[in-house]
Amino acid sequence: MKILLNNNDLNEALNNVKNLGFVPTMGSLHKGHISLIKESLRKTNKTIVSIFINHKQFNNKNDFTKYPRNKKKDLSILKRLNVDFVYLPKNKDIYDFKRTKKIKLKQKDKILCAKYRNGHFEGVLDVMDRLMNKILPKYVFMGLKDFQQLYLVKKYIEKKYKSKIIPCKTVRDSNKLALSSRNSLLRKNTLLKAGKLIQNLINFKKNLSKVKDLKKVVNNQKIKLSQLYNINIEYLELRNERNLKATSKTKNSKLFIAFYFDKIRLIDNI
Ligand code: AMP
Repeated sequence: MKILLNNNDLNEALNNVKNLGFVPTMGSLHKGHISLIKESLRKTNKTIVSIFINHKQFNNKNDFTKYPRNKKKDLSILKRLNVDFVYLPKNKDIYDFKRTKKIKLKQKDKILCAKYRNGHFEGVLDVMDRLMNKILPKYVFMGLKDFQQLYLVKKYIEKKYKSKIIPCKTVRDSNKLALSSRNSLLRKNTLLKAGKLIQNLINFKKNLSKVKDLKKVVNNQKIKLSQLYNINIEYLELRNERNLKATSKTKNSKLFIAFYFDKIRLIDNI
């Protein structure tokens, strides 16, 4: 495994590499990340994983400061997986040019997390564009857990580059909570409660097809769950998984949720 600490290392290592798979991450790797990496190792000749905590996509300074960092453990996981390259850029490697045109979201995309996290996806698209520009992979592996991120990045990146974005399914804990680096910031008891909330939503979604006034029922469930767990649920919405439009049909739909436990913001889709 080659560790690439800057853009020189990167350019040297990727010279002449074909059929490259890329897994962008912010580190603190867990089984969700590992499933993406294994998919890339299966599907491509060489795999590069990046670890970069992109300050620009954090709309909350405290969230950035608290974000878990585990470089040593991450490197040992990547080594064990036999990843070809790990790219650990510094800010100056990523933000090495100024953009002439600012990245802006379309009005219709300012929904779900985009509505509540001002500038977040603009930061994600910016860093993804910069990473793609330097790495030029054939495939990029991304998790369905961050569904809206995957949706926006796919639209932006596949238009601009020849690369293809490969969606990978969400890996969950045995209690059904989606794995997330931020889970390590939660107390054990809270993790159990968060898992219960997700189990509740999985069952709720199964029974939705029998329901008439879907919008009202989903909103009532949001109120019920926030009272039951005494938490802030930022949104709970049923949307079409192809275009993310709000829907009152269960066909091709997903329930999207953002909620806070112990002041930590978690998202999921079911
Ligand atoms: P992050 O390090 O949180 O930026 O995530 C890096 C990539 O891993 C993103 O494409 C995420 O969607 C994906 N990912 C995060 N958690 C999971 C999970 N539980 N299952 C599958 N993919 C995940």
